[in-house]
Amino acid sequence: MPLNTGRSYLAIPGPSVSPDRVLNAMHRTAPNIYEGELVEMTKTIIDDLKRVAMTAQNVAIYITNGHGAWEAANCNMFSRGDRALLAATGRFGFGWAEAARRQGIEIDIIDFGKNGPADPQRIAQALEADKAREIRAVLVTHVDTASSARNDIAAIRAAIDATGHPALLAVDAIASLGCDELRMDDWGIDVLVGASQKGLMVPPGLGFIWFSDKALELSQSADLVTPYWDWKPRGIGAEFWQYFGGTAPTHHLYGLREALTMILDEEGLENVWARHHKLASAVWAAFGAWGQGSAIALNVADTKSRGWSVTSATIPNGGAGALRAWLEAEAGVTLGIGLGMAAPHEPAYADFLRVGHMGHVNAHMVLGVLASMEAGLQALDIPHGTGALEAAARAVWK
Ligand SMILES: *Cc1c(COP(=O)(O)O)cnc(C)c1O
Repeated sequence: MPLNTGRSYLAIPGPSVSPDRVLNAMHRTAPNIYEGELVEMTKTIIDDLKRVAMTAQNVAIYITNGHGAWEAANCNMFSRGDRALLAATGRFGFGWAEAARRQGIEIDIIDFGKNGPADPQRIAQALEADKAREIRAVLVTHVDTASSARNDIAAIRAAIDATGHPALLAVDAIASLGCDELRMDDWGIDVLVGASQKGLMVPPGLGFIWFSDKALELSQSADLVTPYWDWKPRGIGAEFWQYFGGTAPTHHLYGLREALTMILDEEGLENVWARHHKLASAVWAAFGAWGQGSAIALNVADTKSRGWSVTSATIPNGGAGALRAWLEAEAGVTLGIGLGMAAPHEPAYADFLRVGHMGHVNAHMVLGVLASMEAGLQALDIPHGTGALEAAARAVWK
């Protein structure tokens, strides 16, 4: 008998669960877009977007998703034929590189595989080999949502600096912003890419780019940029419409205002990070127990290199696909598909899944997903170790 009636739960790495408060804030008539409340509110949003990325520099808001924000970042950083270096730790790194390539940027990829972080020393070696100093930027995902591997951004910055190479550091933090510890200015990030629908808890539709003063200066000569994507008027526009390249994303802004208040002024950013870490620990603990004596395994072995917002795992012999289907039909929980691990037409595609634990999530949501997964493993006779729920419970209160 299906037990899926009740509030369904999309436990995937974005779109994440939006708080009712955020949705209710969006449920209103359109405001005056020329003056008054919206204009004043947008100023506070810009200030708070800088707080959430821990920067005192610049931010631009786009009506787009993460893919659009990638292209926006690229066209402000580069001119046709420029060179860049991308450190890939999963499918999303390749996605960013592919966008850059089609925009006319010559991009070298260092592939660090799907099971761990980038090695800062190998990035440094590539920069040292660039005697002509042609590489304009190093691109890297903070947490690659496909592999759930997390990169040490501060270490990458230090390795770049040690070479004396002037390349910018550009970071995709779409999956980690508002979940994992992230400090743009302290870590020396020049360009930071984000989107609304993950840690920021707002429906898909907004992309963000934070950019350093150095990146701003270099962007003056970037010839790939077109008017809509130009970050200069968005970051430092004289008139309100320029911040959005046209009509403001009115309703999303009301939702974002509410979400930023919840993150920064009510819970507090460091508490938000700590909550994500703790809930991620519960997920890892459950998988650790399930993997005892079975082939169930987390994608990233080293705890320090796992993202706090998403967990990629394997349940072989099609177990991951079967479990996903069971959970949706029987328990009202949707888990994420495995991404970039195997092609959709390959049988191994059904061996991978991802659990999203980003944004507006608490202990009962995560423990509920894990208990539902335990039920599914039992119902489907998928071999697994015991004690997962006890381990997860311990991780939550410990
Ligand atoms: C989700 C995500 C993207 C893509 O964002 P879309 O909004 O789906 O275009 C890119 N990079 C990372 C790290 C992501 O998590």
